[in-house]
Amino acid sequence: MTATRIDGKAFAEQVREEVAEGVKALQEAHGVTPGLAVVLVGEDPASQVYVRNKVKQTEACGMNSFHHVLDASTSRESLMSLIKSLNDDPEVHGILVQLPLPDHLDSKDVIEAIDPAKDVDGFHTSNVGELWTSGEPFVPCTPLGCLKLLKSVEPNIAGKNAVVIGRSNIVGRPMAALLLNESATVTIAHSKTKDLPSVCRQADILVAAVGRPQMVKADWIKPGAIVLDVGINRIETDDGKGRLVGDVDFDDASTVAGAITPVPGGPGPMTIACLLANTLEAAKRSVS
Ligand code: NAD
Repeated sequence: MTATRIDGKAFAEQVREEVAEGVKALQEAHGVTPGLAVVLVGEDPASQVYVRNKVKQTEACGMNSFHHVLDASTSRESLMSLIKSLNDDPEVHGILVQLPLPDHLDSKDVIEAIDPAKDVDGFHTSNVGELWTSGEPFVPCTPLGCLKLLKSVEPNIAGKNAVVIGRSNIVGRPMAALLLNESATVTIAHSKTKDLPSVCRQADILVAAVGRPQMVKADWIKPGAIVLDVGINRIETDDGKGRLVGDVDFDDASTVAGAITPVPGGPGPMTIACLLANTLEAAKRSVS
């Protein structure tokens, strides 16, 4: 079997086009332009790249982008005061504080200060609670992107066995909640799980969110399963340039899986597209 390649890049483009149309419609109906505020504390190079991409794509969709760069030594008080002003600003519909934060700032404390109605990352405990009680949360963008990719190849998730490897608050846990809300039978595997390959072989839907390069091999996969690879890992190559790989050994797994996401070009590009979708949704809720 050679698996269908799920094209996250193309799908993300489609989501961005839908968001741009939604932005126009909201402007026409209510005179409101969705606004996303991104807060970056410090100079982490990877975070700077993410933030640049977010700002570019936000503007390309016709939304307002408010970009706040704070010094790495910024105090808790200054950051909290900025978040309060963004909470109170009617032109800001979504607030994203780029993680990780410098060590002296507690990310949970900071996330809890964001108005849940503007928490487009879906990390506030109020949104987490809504997600686990089948409410109307803002869902964390990476798992939301994975769900959209999954539905593009398998609209009928109910009753399927889903295994999520990883239990982080930003990917594994919300992914499991989303799959449960779709009536899948969900197993969350993690670093203490015994005989992980045999757990994975039960999966009709396998999500890998671990951070271990090419850990999942073909013989971990049930023939025909859908495999979503969230991992982004840089490995060394002979030419010294290195390359990005996922948590799944793509070439090996493609011989067994029914459909699989590549890395790069899988859930990665969907993350920012879903952030834009969440920001549009927040702006719509603000006028309803
Ligand atoms: P994390 O380090 O917070 O969590 C990793 C999880 O994997 C943990 O719950 C741990 O229990 C589990 N784990 C670790 N080793 C394991 C093992 N040997 N067997 C089974 N489980 C094991 O990581 P995260 O933030 O959830 O990110 C996971 C991966 O996804 C990373 O590669 C990260 O770069 C990537 N990621 C991608 C995106 C995106 O595409 N936009 C977003 C977030 C994270």
